[in-house]
Amino acid sequence: MVCPVCGTRTEPIKTWNLVSPLPDAKGRITITVMGSFECPKCKHRWRGVVSKLKVGGSSIEVETGRGKKKVADEEVVREKPEIIELDLEDILSEEE
Ligand SMILES: [Zn+2]
Repeated sequence: MVCPVCGTRTEPIKTWNLVSPLPDAKGRITITVMGSFECPKCKHRWRGVVSKLKVGGSSIEVETGRGKKKVADEEVVREKPEIIELDLEDILSEEE
């Protein structure tokens, strides 16, 4: 992020996520990464959006200052998470 006062490139001191409670028209949830900045040159402080993530639907999209970037295609997102079933008794008996 660039300082709005003097134009010095500034890295965020702190970042946090804001999750939109409502999905957009495509059923995606928007996660906004907010940042707290302090310019190293003029000490100006401000808050701004670092990036936006759109999760769900058919793709994951990341929006940064440089533009949108699609980070996952449909196949990746549609892949079901692997569920590993563990039997607790089996684990405990192995430790004996
Ligand atoms: Zn500045």
